[in-house]
Amino acid sequence: MSFKPFLLPSIPDNDKIDVYMKHGGYTALAKAIKEMTPQQITEEVINSGLRGRGGAGFPAGRKWSFLPKDSGKPIYLCVNADESEPGTCKDRELMLDHPHMVIEGSIITSFAINCHHAFIYIRGEFAEEARQLERAIAAAEDKGYVGKNILGSGFDLKISVYRGGGAYICGEETALMTSLEGGKGYPRLKPPFPAISGLYGCPTIINNVETLSNVPHIVNRGADWFKSIGTEKSTGSKIFCVSGHVNKPGNYELPMGTPLRELLYEHAGGIKNDRNLKAVIPGGSSVPILTADKIDVKMDFESLTEAGSMLGSAAVIVMDESTCIVHAAMVIERFYRHESCGQCTPCRQGTTWMYRVLHRIEHGKGTMEDLELLLDICDNIEGNTICPLGDAAVPAVRTSIKQFRDEYEYHINEKKCLVTLGKRFE
Ligand code: SF4
Repeated sequence: MSFKPFLLPSIPDNDKIDVYMKHGGYTALAKAIKEMTPQQITEEVINSGLRGRGGAGFPAGRKWSFLPKDSGKPIYLCVNADESEPGTCKDRELMLDHPHMVIEGSIITSFAINCHHAFIYIRGEFAEEARQLERAIAAAEDKGYVGKNILGSGFDLKISVYRGGGAYICGEETALMTSLEGGKGYPRLKPPFPAISGLYGCPTIINNVETLSNVPHIVNRGADWFKSIGTEKSTGSKIFCVSGHVNKPGNYELPMGTPLRELLYEHAGGIKNDRNLKAVIPGGSSVPILTADKIDVKMDFESLTEAGSMLGSAAVIVMDESTCIVHAAMVIERFYRHESCGQCTPCRQGTTWMYRVLHRIEHGKGTMEDLELLLDICDNIEGNTICPLGDAAVPAVRTSIKQFRDEYEYHINEKKCLVTLGKRFE
């Protein structure tokens, strides 16, 4: 069966509400509100197998079902549009080119969870995307899809766009809520989970932009249609963000389970300058590196875990044979050092320490003991922090040492780079 993208359809001007509606936009909202109960919508999403597209992969409908029934408090929806994982650029395209899909998914989800005020938390640098969403919300209000008594149903919904300050950590759900409340973007310990005590201490659902964009399609075409795409446990399509040494970097929406080889060589046009592939980070900088011999892996949650990595945000970072892996690990660690919020010692000190050690190895001043030191720091960070940023700082360093130890040793023994033959620091 040939696959036709539905999250990134080739429809020019789909950001205009009339164009979106001409192609079936907002029919799912009408169906959800007029023909379905909130419980039926939740069940349809549970049955579809839709899993969160932000990185964790938690089943979306099940998350909604954790909300307490009678807390007496307002329920909030937070749309996580703080896309910051290095290599990830899919939510940005959805918000720019298909903002009504994001809005329609948010309205249906709000109806399903009985939320009357939804917030879209968008990273500060996405100025145009934020304006695009605001324009889309205003257009939806004019048509009666947002605001009071939506489509005559008695259901009211306000949607607010909130621009963050550009901190990576605010993509973590508890930091996002703290930031939205006006505080510093510090993550909180869980439990309590947001579904029980989230924004302003109220039950809250936080879903990623891509996750919510799937909801109108599931409502319109049904759970069975969604399950017919992808694999048994990773249903639907996925937007893969391919960057690095490929001929055609970009976002590719394909069925879950598409082989990495096909993604790289058929869709992304193969490796630049006909060089050999060296390694791939398949799910954003927070996941383990895969070596070139692993690219027959299928791009879904289970297959990537089995192959020793993770799907994460599906940001596929491609490195050819000209890449110095020590340099790549150092650049990644510099990012985590910069983005650590500083609350936990293992993360605050560990990321700084790892960056410094990698920097000295990269610049020909490392020792063999430094390799064991790096692995030891990895062990001491992992599992010992409040939020997943600490854990995220570990895989690139650990797997780069395990898989490319010869390059590290060459840097240490020869005081130059095995790949670039020392051009960088001679
Ligand atoms: Fe902050 Fe890092 Fe601790 Fe997360 S793990 S709370 S980013 S210090």
